[in-house]
Amino acid sequence: MKNNYTPTVLTIAGSDTYAGAGIQIDMKTIHKLGAYAFTVPTALTSQNSTGVKDVFATPIDVFEKQLEAVLEDVQIDAVKIGMLANKGIIVALAKVIDKYQLKNIVLDTVMVSSSGKNLLESSEIEIMVKELFPRVDLITPNIPEVNALLGSSYMGKPEEVKPTVERLFALGINAVLLKGGHGLERNRVTDYLIEKSHTITEHTSQRVNTTHTHGTGCILSSSIATHLALGHNLTKSVSLSKQFMYEHLVASSSLKFNYLKEELGRKEPIF
Ligand code: PLP
Repeated sequence: MKNNYTPTVLTIAGSDTYAGAGIQIDMKTIHKLGAYAFTVPTALTSQNSTGVKDVFATPIDVFEKQLEAVLEDVQIDAVKIGMLANKGIIVALAKVIDKYQLKNIVLDTVMVSSSGKNLLESSEIEIMVKELFPRVDLITPNIPEVNALLGSSYMGKPEEVKPTVERLFALGINAVLLKGGHGLERNRVTDYLIEKSHTITEHTSQRVNTTHTHGTGCILSSSIATHLALGHNLTKSVSLSKQFMYEHLVASSSLKFNYLKEELGRKEPIF
């Protein structure tokens, strides 16, 4: 018999006033891909095309109540975790993952915005590693995030992948997608998916030269979570998400701004 339920994805991430990253873009992504999005914000950010101006973390008791409200009520098929704001949020989230035995969890290891705002301090990164890495199914660091996690100088070269991944597995992860967008390849981007069995698969796409880069990490991770919720395995979820990302990067939204773009080096949204 056909299952008539709509697949569900819970996004636990920062709220972005500019709506090109965080829970807003996660929700747009999840909806576009045919699942139902639930949202629990870890923080309210004030931001626009020129960067993140301010962050107000959700009080821990409010964060816990929001998670409870959703999780006591509905079955969640996959979870996307983004910006984490502080230690209290991380610890509360780890407890809830255990209590509700959440599955298909994708953690986007957000640390710094592309405009340069620190979104997680180094002591908080340590707590994220300890509390969340063993509990999530996939982490999706970009090259600077890999280096922040390992204190390494990984550049995304093929020969560096194995030793880098072994060090990440030593931190307790279950699987990792090493994103290559910040790498040296000029015409393409290669991401490496390394699964629990330590099998490596390469996922390559054509590089899109664009100023529409705000929220790329959020879109990719929420797309992977959604494809898992739709029943695909990890490799298929990653390849479908790379394709989704590429198609949207090529056809990005154009907004009418108040100032000349060249003056500000602005980051534009994807959709
Ligand atoms: N704001 C929020 C709420 C985010 O979650 C993120 C990244 O995940 C950012 C801003 C940074 O976005 P970007 O670096 O793509 O501009």
